[in-house]
Amino acid sequence: MIPFNKIFLTGNEQKYINEALISGKISGNGSFTKKCQNFFEKKYSFKKTLLTTSCTDALEMCAMLANLKEGDEVIIPSFTFVSTALAFLRTGAKVVFADSYADNPNIDPKGIERLINKKTKAIIVVHYAGIACDMDAIMSIANKNNLIVIEDAAHAIDSYYTDRKGVKKPLGSIGHLAAFSFHETKNIVSGEGGLLVINDDRFIERAEIIWENGTNRSKFFRGEIDKYGWVDIGASFLASDILAAFLWAQLEAIDEIQAKRVALWNHYYETITNSCTTPDFEIAPIPDYASQNGHMFYLVAKNLKTRNKLLALFKNKGYHAVFHYSSLHKSSYYTNKHDSRILINSDRFSDCLIRLPLFVDLEFSTIDQMVADVLMDSYIKKVI
Ligand SMILES: *Cc1c(COP(=O)(O)O)cnc(C)c1O
Repeated sequence: MIPFNKIFLTGNEQKYINEALISGKISGNGSFTKKCQNFFEKKYSFKKTLLTTSCTDALEMCAMLANLKEGDEVIIPSFTFVSTALAFLRTGAKVVFADSYADNPNIDPKGIERLINKKTKAIIVVHYAGIACDMDAIMSIANKNNLIVIEDAAHAIDSYYTDRKGVKKPLGSIGHLAAFSFHETKNIVSGEGGLLVINDDRFIERAEIIWENGTNRSKFFRGEIDKYGWVDIGASFLASDILAAFLWAQLEAIDEIQAKRVALWNHYYETITNSCTTPDFEIAPIPDYASQNGHMFYLVAKNLKTRNKLLALFKNKGYHAVFHYSSLHKSSYYTNKHDSRILINSDRFSDCLIRLPLFVDLEFSTIDQMVADVLMDSYIKKVI
């Protein structure tokens, strides 16, 4: 069976973990943590970054920084992972779900404006599959209504958005805050792991405090104050330096990892568009303003029945293809808290999306074989 995902090790993970062990300093905010944070701040011009134990934790920090409380509302796409909503719900705020575009799963800015009222405090966007949301449109709605924009950039490392003026910006650098994931299913991994990005100066000092149990310990270690204490809310959001050591080995190879993943994505795209002409599925178009970062290659089947037939076909031929999110507004936990709006596009992606295997060690020839075995025109016509 060709797996859906397989972690890629660069070979230096053990070496750097050993270095961390030998150094005797393995708690958070150590030398590997600083190396990783500097790397992100330099390569992607993120103003300030903090390494966390997960993207979920980074999103929880965003919710705290946005000062959300009971009675506030946040707008979140329904087609996303549970964490995106959970982090904000925990503050007592109400999650208001928004729909996707008709042709790709990202949040459709056209639907956002009518969800905004006096209680709205933030918009959370998810760059699905590492493809940028329309950030000019979203930032403009947010500025007009004085809202905070948080990018859930879990899929979106090393991906870009080109704004209306032609300036190319890394995803995660555009909203006031952003969160990345290094979970083993993402492009760059450390098992579990995440990164909070702070692009707005207003939040930097408080983010460091929330990161370290509500204390001003970071300031103390920089010699800016002579003792530290409890000054705000927070938690132990820091990642161990062992985790940072693993991550550092991955970051050293990020260009190589990304080049291979992007090439695999392009190979899927070319092979399928050249050899399959079928109304049974399509490849979602990538908007002109967005890049693809090889995070995920997916098809959208014409309906649920076709999707399930295709999934079974992949499985029978020895390839592990998988579906993805189920609309959160229909989850058993949230359905009675959601108003009666129908989110037709989110539901369609829940029913029709298929993700195909994509990992660094996947062979181009395996993609050729997969397309021939499962997706080729004639085969489709006979089986579906
Ligand atoms: C993976 C993922 C998360 C959660 O990341 P963790 O690091 O596992 O907490 C959040 N949002 C999206 C869109 C994700 O894909």
